[in-house]
Parts: sequence; structure tokens; C-alpha cells
Amino acid sequence: MILDPFGRPTTNLRISVTQRCNLRCIYCHREGETSPETEMTVDEIVEIVKLGVELGIKSVKLTGGEPLVREDILKIVKSISRIPGVQDLSMTTNGNLLPVYAEDLAEAGLNRVNVSLPTLNEQKYRAITGGDLKPVIAGIKAAVTAGLNPVKLNMVYMKGINTDEVYSMIDFAAKTNTILQVIELEPVNLDRDFYEKHHAPLDALIKYLSERAKEVKVRRNMQNRKVYVLPEAKVEVVPPIENTEFCMHCTRIRLTSDGKLKPCLMRQDNLVDILTPMRNGADRAVLKNLFIEAIKRRRPYFIPSR
Ligand code: SAM
Repeated sequence: MILDPFGRPTTNLRISVTQRCNLRCIYCHREGETSPETEMTVDEIVEIVKLGVELGIKSVKLTGGEPLVREDILKIVKSISRIPGVQDLSMTTNGNLLPVYAEDLAEAGLNRVNVSLPTLNEQKYRAITGGDLKPVIAGIKAAVTAGLNPVKLNMVYMKGINTDEVYSMIDFAAKTNTILQVIELEPVNLDRDFYEKHHAPLDALIKYLSERAKEVKVRRNMQNRKVYVLPEAKVEVVPPIENTEFCMHCTRIRLTSDGKLKPCLMRQDNLVDILTPMRNGADRAVLKNLFIEAIKRRRPYFIPSR
């Protein structure tokens, strides 16, 4: 396994399989992608994952855009799940198409799923995403029934929009046998005014959860994220902004939908294009070196002050 210049392993690969989406979420960071020039084929994705596995990747997350709008998504899941060395394959989805896909995804080898759920209020859901909440709720239940485990509910925490809903979301997680994941709003690909108006630190929520938790677990190798085990449900918090601990424990690298390795969500200036050389016939050794180069470019975005 290769370590980055800060001694961190790179074990997680987060792949945008498309930038197309069936929703228009007002808070979406689009995984830090700007304007994709092309979309990788299944074979190209699989080849890049294989190179990553040889360099220490163990866990793969599919994201987007909306991964389920790709017509060949089951083929992508099936092919990646069969790569020896991939120990964990998951997906982040808006859940709209989960009622159709949940069972097939589980059968194809997907282990677990994160479903974006910013609110439980139908009108608010439409205002935030442009879509209908009902299929998402049905999709969450379908994913649990299909045995995708755990099913996590990704709630981006936004002042003036949904911070008052955390408590009903905890109840919903308890009722549906899912885990609530509360995510701090990140300023990527967002209008500055929107960010300033709606960003809220998670400190008060973390204090509330700490006081109520019967146990607090730390997800090592996942930016040391904390999971608060409440009497009724588990709640995970993701506070990345200005968080040096989060960055020091980051083990993630991204692959954009147009085939560029992206060492950090927050940066646009250090990507490594692996798809163009692959399409131009570069041999495996060259491609592997490009992957190594991307790992070497990993830097904690928020660095502890001395
Ligand atoms: N369409 C899929 C979905 O809705 O989950 C996958 C793409 S979405 C960009 C991936 C994840 O990023 C979701 O969990 C979403 O909640 C999160 N996300 C999107 N914009 C964000 C932002 N500005 N700050 C923090 N998280 C964000």
C-alpha cells in the first residue's frame, strides 16, 4: 500500500458514475465537479478500480449526479463487486429509483446504500430538490427489505431550511431501522450567499447527541467520524469544515465522471486525468503511475495550525 505525503493510506475510492441527475437539489456540490467532458464506460470504470485496488483501495462508493439514472448501473455494480480486493461497495443515491432497483442492486453485489433525505415534509422536499418525496420513502423501505445494510439517511444540515427536523429524522431512522447521517453543508459549487445564509456548524447538535448517547463509536479510517448510539437510533455526524482531524484521517480519493482522479473534494487544481491516456492506449504501468501521482497529490485541506 502506498501512503500519501502525510502518511495517510488511500483506501476509499468515491466514483461519480455520471453527472446526470433526475433532481435539482439547491445545496448540491456535484462532488466538486464542474463541467464533465465525457462519461466513463463500465469497462473503463472497472479498469480504474482494479488499478486502485492494487494500490490499497478496499472500499468503493458510487455517486454522481444520480448513479441510478445510468442505464448500465447494475452492470457497473456487478462488475465492481466481483473485483477481488473490493471489500465494501456502496452507493449514494437520491432514492427516487430505489423502489425499482433496490433488490437488483443487492443481488448485483451492492453492500449498503446512503439515501439523501433533507426533509420529511413533502412540500419542503419539492422546494429543495424539485422532486417527489413518496418514492424516496418507498425506496428507503425497499432498500432495508432488500438487505442493503446499513441504509443511511444523508441529511445535509441547513439553517433556515431543515435544522429543526433533526429530531423527527431521528424518529424516522428508528422506525425504519436506518442510520441518520447529518452532514455539514460544504461550500463547494455553491453560491456564496446561499452558503452563508444556510451553513450552520454542527456543534450544538453534537453536544445534544453526546449528552443522550449511551455509546459513541469512532469510525477509524473514515475521517474518525463519530457515531452516537442513542437509545432509539444511531446518528452519525460529518463536520468537515475547518476540521483538521477530519482531514488528517481522510483516506479518500475521488474519480470524476469524466475520468479524472480528484485528491480532494475542495480543490480543482490538482486533478489527474487517467481516462484520456487510457483512451489513447497507455499501458497499465503508465496508468498505475498516474494513480500513484494522484495519491501523492493528496493533502489535508484544513491543516492544524502550529
Ligand atoms: N444523487 C445522489 C444523492 O443525492 O445522494 C448522489 C450525489 S450527491 C452529490 C452525494 C452526497 O453529497 C449526498 O449524500 C448529498 O447529501 C451530499 N451533498 C451534496 N451537496 C452537498 C453539500 N453542499 N454539502 C455537503 N454534502 C452535500
